[in-house]
Amino acid sequence: MINEAFLSNYTDYHLHTNLGDGKNSLPQMLKGALKIGLKTVAVTEHNFSVHINKRLRKWFPDLDILSGFELSSLLGHFVIVGVDAFRANRMLADNQVLKKSWHAPIKEEIIIKILEWAKENKACVAWCSILPINILN
Ligand SMILES: [Zn+2]
Repeated sequence: MINEAFLSNYTDYHLHTNLGDGKNSLPQMLKGALKIGLKTVAVTEHNFSVHINKRLRKWFPDLDILSGFELSSLLGHFVIVGVDAFRANRMLADNQVLKKSWHAPIKEEIIIKILEWAKENKACVAWCSILPINILN
């Protein structure tokens, strides 16, 4: 059974706000994360990264808040977490991904470039869903 004790010391590396396709504001999401006992969250909007400013960090001293972003590929969705939002957005703009519709999967060659960028920037990459698309045939 999932309860507050279960969630304490846990992280959520896949979080959307109303800056992207989520329903709640970033402060509302962070308050909710604290309420259920999370210690670390990553904000992962589709195709762009949200900068977490000092004032926001001051409001939530008990929460580690990471910048990240989510990408859609033919193999599913994945998040890249622990990035500098400004550098990430510049890279996403250079690859014509910034603010692109998240419904459209990103081309494989671009995904590979972004994964290489993530590795160079010591970011964490995690799959968050596998779409029912069979590209192996
Ligand atoms: Zn998502």
